[in-house]
Amino acid sequence: MRRAKIVATLGPSSNTVDKIGELIKAGMNVARVNMSHGTHESHAQLIKNIREASKNVSQEVAVLIDLQGPKIRVDKVDKPLELKPGSEWVIGQTKDLEKYPEYKDCFIPTIYDKLVDDCHDGARILFDDGLMTAEAIERDRDVYKIKILVGGKLKSNKGINLPDCDVSAPAFTEKDKEDLLFGLENGADYVALSFVRRREDVEEVKYLLHKLKKNIPIISKIEKPQAIDQLDEIMKVTDVIMVARGDMGVEVGNHLVPSVQKHIIKACNESSIPVITATQMLESMTENPTPTRAEASDVANAIWDGTDAVMLSGESAAGKYPVETITMMSKIIEEAEKDPKERPLLRNMDLSNINSSVMVAASMIAEKVEAKKILSVTESGHSCRKIAHFRPKTEVLGITNKIETVRKLCLYWGVTPYMLFNYNEDDFNFHADVLEKVKQDLKLVNGDKLVITRGDGRFFSRGSSNSVKVEIIKDAPSVPGGQDTLIEASDEKKKILLDTSICASCQNCVAICPHDIWVPNSENHRTTINEKRISECTMDNECIRVCPTGAIEIIPMA
Ligand code: PEP
Repeated sequence: MRRAKIVATLGPSSNTVDKIGELIKAGMNVARVNMSHGTHESHAQLIKNIREASKNVSQEVAVLIDLQGPKIRVDKVDKPLELKPGSEWVIGQTKDLEKYPEYKDCFIPTIYDKLVDDCHDGARILFDDGLMTAEAIERDRDVYKIKILVGGKLKSNKGINLPDCDVSAPAFTEKDKEDLLFGLENGADYVALSFVRRREDVEEVKYLLHKLKKNIPIISKIEKPQAIDQLDEIMKVTDVIMVARGDMGVEVGNHLVPSVQKHIIKACNESSIPVITATQMLESMTENPTPTRAEASDVANAIWDGTDAVMLSGESAAGKYPVETITMMSKIIEEAEKDPKERPLLRNMDLSNINSSVMVAASMIAEKVEAKKILSVTESGHSCRKIAHFRPKTEVLGITNKIETVRKLCLYWGVTPYMLFNYNEDDFNFHADVLEKVKQDLKLVNGDKLVITRGDGRFFSRGSSNSVKVEIIKDAPSVPGGQDTLIEASDEKKKILLDTSICASCQNCVAICPHDIWVPNSENHRTTINEKRISECTMDNECIRVCPTGAIEIIPMA
């Protein structure tokens, strides 16, 4: 089972119901809708397609809407502009082209209305994630003359970065507000904020959501140098962090990206904040069916750094091989996870918090008793997020009766969402009901163990777990209260005891004993002792060793 999750951006190569279904089957956990491209109409259709595809393949995914932020972009151009090194161009708002027809053959239109005001002579202007570079020469009325230093072909919508300028645009633009409202109306599960610079940028959106009485987790994309400096403050008000390496590389220089990535992931791991590592992870697969060795290593290293999720952008949105890219990413993650690094979080952790201590206990117990799964019963997803923080070796099933929570859990490391319809959390038979369903769905066999975490309803029902319990899969639940459940047989050398109230009838003892001392009762399949054979018992205690529940005792006679 893969633990780290895959976020895949959807676009022209991957927006049909069939293709999205293939992506989900290949391993996509979160579908990213990039609000920098397309219209509300096309996005609404895309979200509809995602939900339909999920239904078709019976697997939910989260929908993440990624707000453009004050992203400065090239506006629409009829054909790619050939920027030759040394050539001079003019940059300005699209409407300015009409005002200055003399520049019609060398005009770079931008959607950002403050570019010319924010710019200054000598400032660098970077295009398309820094692939092309220009220098500002001088302002001419409402446009800026620039000289191309590193050339290339510039297409519509490509990003523009001004690393030397103090960009005046607000972090949360009017367009972002409209897009956020659109996302809320269309059932988005996460919202990502671009070009966050400080804590207040996130708080502004939180306040708006609060006012609207909406609860959608906020992902802060860390890409500006100011945000790297303010990381601790931003994390205090953010649900998820994204290492947005594309614009970050342009803003701070590619040489600093690896160390900044490690720094951010470590900080998030320590603070229990899920973190997504994004951009150019398998970039060459946009054109090719296999990645470069360096890209494969990049994905694996992000996993070893401790990222919760990795993200694809152009590879899955506009590439030739979106399905193959997700399959490849999934394979690289699975291989990397076979060699997990140490879990330093399990030392030095603060256990004064009840939820944390329950989750740490659950992680450790599940590992020690070799439980098949941890079942984490969750209303909001908070408990699952907490347990993911401790990176349990055992797979976690996030059990909930809320579809929104199922979708939210899709992003959490090591958590498989598990929708349980029609259950009442306060129902006394909860354990029996859930266990029976999980047993059937996961084809568990008698003797398999499960660790269950849960809030007890009266005190911890919302957002926190206060109990951890180990369950053993048995044919029938034990009968509580006073019934004589001990089977006993003896000869002059030993007494053999079987406590049927805890026997799982897993038949491990039947399989291991060469002397037929243990037999399954032919009527009810419950294990029992064959009294006629006990003189054959050599007291090697092999049956005790394989018994998962401690139901067998062999007492030598003096
Ligand atoms: C990035 O810059 O790495 C990123 C994820 O943002 P976008 O794709 O919106 O530029």
